[in-house]
Amino acid sequence: MNVVVAGSLNFDLVVHLNRMPNPGETVAGEEIHTYPGGKGLNQAVSVARSNVRANMIGALGDDPNSVALFAVLKSEGINSDQIQRVAGACGTAIIEVDKNGQNRIVVIPGANDALNSRALPKTYFQDFSGKKILLCQLESPVAQIIKVIEIAKSSGFLILLNPAPAMDLTRELLSMIDILIPNQHESEILTGIKVLNLESARLAALKLIGRGVQAVIVTLGDVGALYISKEEEIFQSAFTVDPIDTTAAGDAFCGAFAAELARGKNSADALQYACAAGALATTKKGAVQSIPREIDIRALVGSQVS
Ligand code: ADP
Repeated sequence: MNVVVAGSLNFDLVVHLNRMPNPGETVAGEEIHTYPGGKGLNQAVSVARSNVRANMIGALGDDPNSVALFAVLKSEGINSDQIQRVAGACGTAIIEVDKNGQNRIVVIPGANDALNSRALPKTYFQDFSGKKILLCQLESPVAQIIKVIEIAKSSGFLILLNPAPAMDLTRELLSMIDILIPNQHESEILTGIKVLNLESARLAALKLIGRGVQAVIVTLGDVGALYISKEEEIFQSAFTVDPIDTTAAGDAFCGAFAAELARGKNSADALQYACAAGALATTKKGAVQSIPREIDIRALVGSQVS
């Protein structure tokens, strides 16, 4: 039972301020926090905290932030053999949050842009046994992610793609995806359908299945998540929590879902577990810090499912 996560590692710099500065203006900030993040790292941590072996393919620079990010991989027990090292800065996100919770984000891809599928050993994906899952996102160069998907698919991996950040995808890429996991915004960018409720989520998912994806999970924030394949349709309502910061809810969801599938659970069980993981992630600040552990996820499922 193995999940390979191919994607980004970022250093998040979060500044809390009363109001955003206008162009040319300087304002005083209130607080500053630094967090490890990046969709790839968040999702790999989510797999590892669900007690499934996580293996990460990604790229780090050689700046001080690379030391901090590598330490997260080590402390979470994530296999880092395929973390590529390049000269320069790691991926960095500069996040400004005003007193109303509105944010502005600048992401500098840094080392993530240097991810190179050719650096993987030729037999890399053949060396895994048991249930094998590849989980990807789109914060790394899409051409490289496509190559990684092709190689993994030819070695019998199940392919999960979280199409974030949102962008249009070719039919060729979509046809290689076993389970696509977009949120509402990403569903709209991919299909042109405004996803506001279950019915529109269903239409968007069916449109994506029409374009070659095997199954789609539309995550719907505090509504829950909808899984649709040609054979099955499953809705899981959201778990009740007191959210304080929704950062990385989708990442917690994707990693937890992949981990449960890797354990051999069916789609309905994995969906329920992943929704509980997403809900718990909203109850803590930050990205990696907010990713829940299996014990807490199972406790939430146990307390709200009869
Ligand atoms: P993203 O973080 O990518 O925008 P979502 O907001 O859809 O993704 O969240 C992913 C999942 O996390 C949802 O499907 C849901 O199960 C859970 N979740 C997110 N926000 C909440 C919330 N406020 N209350 C309960 N569950 C939530």
